[in-house]
Amino acid sequence: MSEVASPERTATPAAPKVGFVSLGCPKALTDSELILTQLSAEGYRTAKTFEGADLVIVNTCGFIDDAVKESLDTIGEALAENGRVIVTGCLGAKTGDQGGNLVRQMHPSVLAVTGPHATQEVMDAVHANLPKPHDPFVDLVPNTFGIAGLKLTPRHYAYLKISEGCNHRCTFCIIPSMRGDLVSRPVGDVLGEAKALFEGGVKELLVISQDTSAYGVDVKYRTGFWDGKPVKTRMLELVRTLGEIAEPYGAWVRLHYVYPYPSVDEIIPLMASGQVLPYLDVPLQHSHPDVLKRMKRPASGEKNLERLARWREVCPELVIRSTFIAGFPGETEQEFEHLLDFIREAQIDRAGCFAYSPVAGATANDIPGMLPPAEREARRARFMEVAEAVSIAKLRQRVGATMQVLVDSAPGMGRKGGVGRTYADAPEIDGTVRLLPPEKISKTLKVGEFTRARIVGAEGHDLIALPI
Ligand code: SF4
Repeated sequence: MSEVASPERTATPAAPKVGFVSLGCPKALTDSELILTQLSAEGYRTAKTFEGADLVIVNTCGFIDDAVKESLDTIGEALAENGRVIVTGCLGAKTGDQGGNLVRQMHPSVLAVTGPHATQEVMDAVHANLPKPHDPFVDLVPNTFGIAGLKLTPRHYAYLKISEGCNHRCTFCIIPSMRGDLVSRPVGDVLGEAKALFEGGVKELLVISQDTSAYGVDVKYRTGFWDGKPVKTRMLELVRTLGEIAEPYGAWVRLHYVYPYPSVDEIIPLMASGQVLPYLDVPLQHSHPDVLKRMKRPASGEKNLERLARWREVCPELVIRSTFIAGFPGETEQEFEHLLDFIREAQIDRAGCFAYSPVAGATANDIPGMLPPAEREARRARFMEVAEAVSIAKLRQRVGATMQVLVDSAPGMGRKGGVGRTYADAPEIDGTVRLLPPEKISKTLKVGEFTRARIVGAEGHDLIALPI
């Protein structure tokens, strides 16, 4: 994901310009939003090109080798075209082969390097290299952007980050070494931000973290306050209150990165009663208990098939999205087939799969039995064939149903149709609904609004629907 941002606020003509590139996952995107909010609040403008900027900030990703390469290339490009570059994000926290900072090793001329979620450090580096503009309006008025700040997502959906870091040590993952242990945001702040986002027109709130079910573990589920009432810093209370706040706005709340702990059982009735979307993004990674043990996965001892079946009994509309790794070190053919059987039996609605990629610094690289890259890739392809068949069969069952669709795009008020999503599809990672031109002449479609639509067909991962 990469974008050059432009806040809407206009500053004085002499205000210095900062170029900004945001790479990586939704968590990195929320870091970018915080930095851009602060820059804008202080009167900096953003430049649309590297050449037109006084300096450039690159928010990097360091998760897999491709992301590292993309980040290093972008820094190189910004240096070549502008020369004054500040680097932040996960790659900024990575150590290189010779022990020093990787970014500094590869690009010694960068002005400053910080790790992820380091808004203040980035701002300090900006101030040191590009003095803060004097803007009589801004200097007299406290931060006027409110807690929701600037967003890089479209106006009608937003990511809400509830915590940073992770207490687990999955053997294939280097996130804890880059982002540290779990730190939960105060529940009052999270709920306040949610309310501000709904007030600002957000119709779909995507709750993100590294481990949503662990929310509050670090503060022993301390009681916080929101709207004058006590609320525990815990997933159940958080989700229930988010549902209550969303209701008057008719907005959706969608949960990502939820591990299948027994405590999640309590969330499912909230989905059945419509308080939050009946959609769970559960990164399972594998099904075989021995592979899960080698991965050191959270909740690896849970009986996931039984748990998913119970959840679906309580909430039959529940949609499960998950991600998996094929060709993990030591994975036998029999363990891999266990995974294929699991996908068929568990009826995972949306599944993504990575062929195992040996990320530098991950302990999984030392596990015996590394498979050749071609075999890892072949297993990924076999996985996707099975997963897609399950997913497509499930989509076809929706034909004939009437569903609520959130409109993402509707040129010309939707007279020629548009594109949207149902509760079953998260933005950017799942499928879409292709909306046909409405039959009724008076019916229009607007981005960020809901429409009822009759599902008339399925096309690959997407649905086709007629707005009614
Ligand atoms: S749960 Fe595992 S994969 Fe996820 S961030 Fe934590 S260590 Fe990484």
